[in-house]
Amino acid sequence: MPRTRSRPDACPGAWRRHDAADGALARFRPVGGATTADELRLLAGAAAAGGSPVELTSRGSWQVRGLAGSTADDLADALRSERPDALVDAQGRDVPCSVIASPRSTRVDPVAAEVAAALRGRTDVPGRLLIAIEDRSAVRGGSARPDSVRVPLTRAVGDVSGQGADVTVVLLDDGAALLLDGVDTGLRADDPAALALAAVDAFTAHRGSAWRVRELDDAARTALLDALRDRTTPAVGNPLEPGPADPTRLGPDGTTLEVLPRLGEVDLPTAVALLELMGHGATLRATPWRTLVLRDAPDGAVERLAGLVETDPASRWRGVSACVGAPRCRKSLTDVRADLAAAVASGHVGGTVRQHWVGCGRACGTPGGRVAVVEAVPPETETSGTYRTVVRSGKVSG
Ligand code: SF4
Repeated sequence: MPRTRSRPDACPGAWRRHDAADGALARFRPVGGATTADELRLLAGAAAAGGSPVELTSRGSWQVRGLAGSTADDLADALRSERPDALVDAQGRDVPCSVIASPRSTRVDPVAAEVAAALRGRTDVPGRLLIAIEDRSAVRGGSARPDSVRVPLTRAVGDVSGQGADVTVVLLDDGAALLLDGVDTGLRADDPAALALAAVDAFTAHRGSAWRVRELDDAARTALLDALRDRTTPAVGNPLEPGPADPTRLGPDGTTLEVLPRLGEVDLPTAVALLELMGHGATLRATPWRTLVLRDAPDGAVERLAGLVETDPASRWRGVSACVGAPRCRKSLTDVRADLAAAVASGHVGGTVRQHWVGCGRACGTPGGRVAVVEAVPPETETSGTYRTVVRSGKVSG
């Protein structure tokens, strides 16, 4: 829907914090969700000091709450010195927008890194812009272990392309496809990173005040596509269908292990267990569906994480998420996470309909794709309960 924005976005980052009821909130946007052991140690330590778990977001980022005094600057400084290329400068800028990538494929890693490197430092890219890099080639890069290089680990149906990103580039066997706002444009090119960057350039040239591709009017959309035609070729055959909104595949798959921290919360004992596994060669990716993918997970990884995260594909925690709610958000009408945990424990919620519970109409953290948003309503509202349900990316259910 066309929309005119009257102010710049205020997305939090490592340096630009959001002032929440429980202190400063900082967000760290790892490229493609790739998180080093030192970064996880810093994030989990800072979160624990503030009395909270470190949180996964719907864009494969990490969020730390309750940062008091100088601890927010200390965290940003420490993250920057750990990986100078991850944060740009001390003037409040880190990676300007989120770059997500297929978490199981090594083939996307250099593409995501190239895109992020080219964008770093740009002030014309809105923080709300979402870029996705997906591997849908027949032979995909998998484990880094020499004995299993290029194992096919991602399904042909895709994964991050289902997140409705503004710009999605899908790596195919013979080049790359471009999706805008989750829909195939029919434009193809050989170089996936160059294709993604050309799409970002065309968007920034024609966006006006819009933050997202879906906010462009018809004329701006047409101009955006026209700007790309010289640098692309038309697709042959059927359009590419986006992947599922929730491509979670919990449990082990070869040397890859996907786990689900309940409500996207990684507490200190869980972080310690993950760090142990990373000390034995595993590498970590945060996903936009609020799971963690461990590549090259060592033997015994499932047992080490037992009781800390969900690893059973039939877990009722799959597909449910919540905003932070009360008491940590002053706008919330209720303790959303406690309510949702009770609902999951009762056996009436989870495992079927994908849903996101929120404490007010702002619906923070709503994941991409079709999802039921379960929204707390004031007591005086004429509904039959404490919550009402709205289906996002689809029709209102009542
Ligand atoms: S949706 Fe509302 S209650 Fe939940 S975190 Fe956002 S502002 Fe707070």
